[in-house]
Amino acid sequence: MHELSIVISIVDIAKAEAEKLNISSFSTIELEIGSQSGIVQEALDFAWPQGVKGSVLNSAKRKINWVEAKAKCQDCGAVFAIANLYDTCPHCNSLFNELIQGKELKIKALTYED
Ligand SMILES: [Zn+2]
Repeated sequence: MHELSIVISIVDIAKAEAEKLNISSFSTIELEIGSQSGIVQEALDFAWPQGVKGSVLNSAKRKINWVEAKAKCQDCGAVFAIANLYDTCPHCNSLFNELIQGKELKIKALTYED
């Protein structure tokens, strides 16, 4: 499952961070996920407990900030929000859009209690 491998890679990053900080667990994790990243909330929710089990994120509260996808028109330069990759420019109807935001998957913050 796609989302489980994503959770496992998030756990790997958190684990490396925990080792650096010399701590055994995090209390919260904040993620930033683009609306065009292909990640489905329900699938992520389903994979999460399985992926974090026994890890530094085992009891971490999870917060997700969904990032709206934005594209830049290659013809007129307009920047606009898009719901899917084949939306046309609302200003000139061009199909030549470059996705400039919305594919991210980032760990924005990890917090822990001393
Ligand atoms: Zn345009």
